[in-house]
Amino acid sequence: MDNIVRVEKEFDIIIEPGFKKAKFDCPVCKLALAGLEDVESVENYGACCDCAQFFYWPNKDRWKSGWRPKKEQVHEKLNNYYVVKEK
Ligand SMILES: [Zn+2]
Repeated sequence: MDNIVRVEKEFDIIIEPGFKKAKFDCPVCKLALAGLEDVESVENYGACCDCAQFFYWPNKDRWKSGWRPKKEQVHEKLNNYYVVKEK
């Protein structure tokens, strides 16, 4: 079967049909997802809970047509280290 990954002789990992890896980072603010709520938020809106609150909901129509906040806007709202890291 192609859904069994043999890692070691002692055990097999069975990957359920339809399994897909989840992202670890928010595509908008690039910060690590903090929990299940963030994972679900990325699946539903393409952004973590904070980004959905600050950027998705107020710009829902623009968001659906592909708009995303600029790095500076994200930094302004979330005050993370994104800009510092980018320098
Ligand atoms: Zn985010």
